[in-house]
Amino acid sequence: MKTKTQKSIILLSVLIVALIAPAFVMPVAAVASIPTEKWVTTVVKPTCSTEGYTELWNTVTDWKGYSDYVPALGHVWGEFDYSQSRVPFDADPVATCEVCGWYGYVYSWEITTVEATCVADGYIQYENSGGWMGWIYDAESALGHDFGEFWDLDFSQSRVADILPHANDPVGTCQTCGWTGYVFSWEITEVEPTCTADGYTSYTANTIPHSGYEFEPWTTAIYNEGSALGHNWGEFDYSQGRVPFADPVATCERCGWHGYVYSWEITETEPTCTADGYTQYTRSDCWMGWTYDEGSALGHDFAVTDLGWGIEYKCERCGYATYIYADELYAAIEIANNFLGSDFSAYTEESVAVAKTWVEAKLGELYGLRCDIFRGEMTQPVLEQSLSDINIDGNIAYAQSLLVEKPKAKTSAEWCADIEATIKTAMSNAGTGKITDIISWEGKTTVITVTINEVDYRFTGGNGANSDKRCIIDGVTYTINIQGNGNWRVISSA
Ligand SMILES: [Zn+2]
Ligand SMILES: [Zn+2]
Ligand SMILES: [Zn+2]
Ligand SMILES: [Zn+2]
Repeated sequence: MKTKTQKSIILLSVLIVALIAPAFVMPVAAVASIPTEKWVTTVVKPTCSTEGYTELWNTVTDWKGYSDYVPALGHVWGEFDYSQSRVPFDADPVATCEVCGWYGYVYSWEITTVEATCVADGYIQYENSGGWMGWIYDAESALGHDFGEFWDLDFSQSRVADILPHANDPVGTCQTCGWTGYVFSWEITEVEPTCTADGYTSYTANTIPHSGYEFEPWTTAIYNEGSALGHNWGEFDYSQGRVPFADPVATCERCGWHGYVYSWEITETEPTCTADGYTQYTRSDCWMGWTYDEGSALGHDFAVTDLGWGIEYKCERCGYATYIYADELYAAIEIANNFLGSDFSAYTEESVAVAKTWVEAKLGELYGLRCDIFRGEMTQPVLEQSLSDINIDGNIAYAQSLLVEKPKAKTSAEWCADIEATIKTAMSNAGTGKITDIISWEGKTTVITVTINEVDYRFTGGNGANSDKRCIIDGVTYTINIQGNGNWRVISSA
């Protein structure tokens, strides 16, 4: 390295030689032979940008040697000005040296560009001569592995098959860089149960960057059913009940939740004809309570229809129907008659063709009779009940219970004896003939054959109860009344 000073020295020596040459006109060989080596030592000091050194100069041979190098001092910078940065960082100042006045960039830069790979983003590295480094990344520029197509993947090595049998966990080999590995990375998080929520394990499958067949990242959770701890209640406060039953408020000693311990399901049930309305309270712990609207049952709303063979009582609200049969009424009255010892035959006649109005009028009596019959106090009937007080179900029960007590049907022989006695009496009273024999009795109501004065007569006509059967004996017409309860009598002879 030749400095400005060295050049000056060389120039000076040439000038000296030129000036003195005319005075020393001697052969070169003669000069070379003079043993007059002269050494000049020059010490050059370092500057901001140049190193210092010592120069040894042989003025005779013009040989030069350098030694004792001293590093350059470096500039002594004044204030930095970052406004002219050549790089994307505030790290490229311009300044003026306070020693030498040099003005310019303080640093030089080495800039390196790194290409993206399958797994790493590309970036540019900036390193300045002061040793400072910075990087500019080309975000998301990593190429990702190229796992090819779906059929290039290997699904046989799933790491989660035991836990998530539905989850694909493929292995792929990169066709670019040769890397082999799982396409997913799994993020597994265990979540502890709380007072109100089950614990679970969350599995998130994140795909590593790749091209080729795409899998979307996804998350699933496997719950530990029933692992919720439930609140750990402190003292119960029953003062704020929302229902007419135990409905405590409390604070959880674990999570601090404050509120009602239970929830309620409240169901209102409307009254029906036969049942009171009520409200059912079902608590979340399955405890149940009911509040009844006492006396709210509506009662049936009966329409009464005369069906001829009986009376139908049908509820116009709920459709419930019950019946009172004509012959049951009849039997009831007959038996009441027996108990009371009074004549209910008029009712008997009426009951044959039961009229709605009759039933409505008499049900009260029947009801009263029933009461007395059951008490065994038959001194007088109770007639005060109005129709609206009558429990129709009760009336049916009543009629049936009376039917149980209905006299058993007489045997044919018994009937024959009865009728014979009756007819003989009638005939003798009539004074016009004599029954000499009852030949046969065919059933209860069909045909009676009687021998009067050695002549057989057949009494026929009518079917069933309460039909009059007529016959003419010796010019006299006898009417025999046959009643449904099996009673027979001759009611007239004309
Ligand atoms: Zn300087
Ligand atoms: Zn790759
Ligand atoms: Zn809790
Ligand atoms: Zn009803």
